Amino acid sequence: AKERGRGCYEVFDITMRDRAVAMLHLETDLRKAIINQEFQLHYQPIVALHNNQITGFEALVRWQHPDKGLIPPIEFIGVAEETGLILPLGIWVLQEACTQMRAWHEEFPSDPPLSVSVNVSGKQFAQVDLVDKIRQILVETSFDPHCLKLEITESTIVEDLASAKAKLIQLQELGIQVSIDDFGTGYSSLSYLSRFPINFLKIDRSFIQDIDTSSERLEIIRAIVSLADSLKIDVVAEGVETASQLAQLCSLQPTSGQEHFAQGYLFSKPLNRDAAKSLIASGRDC
Ligand code: C2E
Ligand code: CA
Ligand code: CA
Ligand code: CA
Repeated sequence: AKERGRGCYEVFDITMRDRAVAMLHLETDLRKAIINQEFQLHYQPIVALHNNQITGFEALVRWQHPDKGLIPPIEFIGVAEETGLILPLGIWVLQEACTQMRAWHEEFPSDPPLSVSVNVSGKQFAQVDLVDKIRQILVETSFDPHCLKLEITESTIVEDLASAKAKLIQLQELGIQVSIDDFGTGYSSLSYLSRFPINFLKIDRSFIQDIDTSSERLEIIRAIVSLADSLKIDVVAEGVETASQLAQLCSLQPTSGQEHFAQGYLFSKPLNRDAAKSLIASGRDC
């Protein structure tokens, strides 16, 4: 029994050690990746439901690892957050998204111009110089702030209500719009919605998934939509995969002049730069 006990501990220790070693490797690789610029952005269209036109794209980071190929963000954003590497990575993402969309604006002018949405992590948003950094990037890339949207989660706001409010006001003064990402998943404190300048709620995919099979889900979404409408916040449905989900969404008409948008595989998966460019070149109808 004693031996088995010790054996168990050893197995446990080895697993722990392996994990720690893997994390260290990942961190070392991530540091190199930032220096060697191994990241790229993919772009997923966001579609306005009233006319089926693409209004903009969400920029989603991928890591082109020299040995392992294209790595999705779920495998490295967490470690990037823990190690602080999300800060230089986040700056790169903003610079790249603004530079790319600025180039597309020049090449394919449209009215209104396409927007680009960039995910901002909690740690990044908490930086005291966040707004200064963004202002600097907008100047360097000569990108129109009205075409930049930042996506933050509820927990980012709730963790530091006072300074979050000040930052959101500063961002709004610059003309930047803000979306609450993954809305409905966190434990939400709805009160900030009416007090803070927020432009979009992105309803999490988990709610959209069974909108067409669960009447409870549909009622939750109906409630979110009506709340957003009354606060003059636009709604984006995330992860729309089927025509039937879209039909249910379309049945929830906005009541007070708010706009409804959708994003998901039904319209398009996230596209690499060349594929996104081809899509833009072919027009905005989705
Ligand atoms: P997110 O911000 O909620 O992004 C949406 C995710 O859902 C993306 O995964 C997208 O590919 C996926 N998606 C879109 N439509 C559908 C659909 O119809 N069905 C399904 N099953 N999935 C769909 P992705 O690109 O793997 O990104 C995962 C998460 O990584 C993002 O979730 C975001 O939290 C984070 N992330 C991505 N890029 C960045 C970044 O530049 N900075 C930061 N801080 N986080 C990022
Ligand atoms: Ca997002
Ligand atoms: Ca999301
Ligand atoms: Ca999500």
